[in-house]
Amino acid sequence: MSQIINGKEVAAGIRAEVAEEVSKLRAANGRPPKLVVIQVGDNPASSTYVRNKKKACEECGIECEDIHLPKEISQFELISKIDKINRDDTVDGILVQLPLPEHINERVVVNMIDPRKDVDGFTLANAGKLLTGEDCTLPCTPAGVIELLRSTGVNLTSKNAVVIGRSNIVGKPVSILLQRMNMNVTMLHSKTSQSDMEFYCRRADVIVVATGHENTLTDRHFYGGKSPIIIDVGINRGADGKLHGDLPEEVKAKYSSYYTPVPGGVGPTTIAMLMKNVIRAYKQNNSTYNAELLYNAGYRKQSEVAKEIFDEIEKLVSTNKKTVGCATYEETIFYIEDFIEDLAELKKKYTGKKEDEQIY
Ligand code: NDP
Repeated sequence: MSQIINGKEVAAGIRAEVAEEVSKLRAANGRPPKLVVIQVGDNPASSTYVRNKKKACEECGIECEDIHLPKEISQFELISKIDKINRDDTVDGILVQLPLPEHINERVVVNMIDPRKDVDGFTLANAGKLLTGEDCTLPCTPAGVIELLRSTGVNLTSKNAVVIGRSNIVGKPVSILLQRMNMNVTMLHSKTSQSDMEFYCRRADVIVVATGHENTLTDRHFYGGKSPIIIDVGINRGADGKLHGDLPEEVKAKYSSYYTPVPGGVGPTTIAMLMKNVIRAYKQNNSTYNAELLYNAGYRKQSEVAKEIFDEIEKLVSTNKKTVGCATYEETIFYIEDFIEDLAELKKKYTGKKEDEQIY
């Protein structure tokens, strides 16, 4: 007999713990944790997610500032904004609601967030640390998946896990966390043949599905006599206008030992784990500032970010020295200098000054 894993209940438990911790931290430090959520444009789904995050913050006593920016904002203006918030000590966590408009490179923007304030766990620094097993901020959905599995109380050591979907935000991090739980992990994806999909699913003790496609698995994937725990991450708007997971509810109920419903499974725990990450960021923000730590975290080592910024500056210069945000192009160079190590080349290029000539 299959049991439903009640994501709402698991999430409520986590939020209650967070609320208790917030009240203690507030009493100790004189202010509550603060999260800034940046939304660009008016994507209706994003607006719903932002509303839900604000609501969860309210419930936990976390201050939440919602910065809503026009969809026409340039990448440079956006990263300048993030840079300012990075430096604002009263802000503990920063979250950029994805997706961003097409003209903006999401990876560049996400990597602009100070990894200590990266409550989504999406920056290269946090993703790299996750891979290498260092202490880091875990991405919310994968961390929530683990909480849901733990809530069953089943010992999963040495068991077989199948993760379907290999995205950076769900499949890959989930697979790493399952390996950390000493499970044998198999990753499947859109190029996996149906026969292999059946082969692996029929032998699985745990199946985590995150494909974004309804009916990814059907009856034939479960003719192995096993009753796996099924965690259904998918959120799909069906032809009936309702939300559906990546598997039909009846298939999960028929073949699993435990399963997460959609809605009411992974979604609520994702937001609860975000609240946990804000607490983590608050604690880091209140610890002594340590430049070396920041450096090691990769904040200053993101050449990709640097290149994008250079490209933006080049565009600014070629198009009439337009003022952006706080600065003219020359001031902009000073402005970003704090976080780009190899600015010397850029200074030379745009100012004609030699590296050793101080221009500030
Ligand atoms: P992506 O589109 O980034 O990745 C989907 C992955 O699934 C890809 O690796 C893709 O393979 C694989 N895939 C697609 N179709 C199939 C198929 N038929 N069989 C096997 N593998 C397949 O999606 P995300 O990881 O961002 O999200 C997945 C789902 O989870 C979505 O429905 C999303 O809405 C939901 N989601 C829910 C969250 C929550 O809080 N509940 C949070 C985040 C996401 P390939 O790499 O070969 O293309």
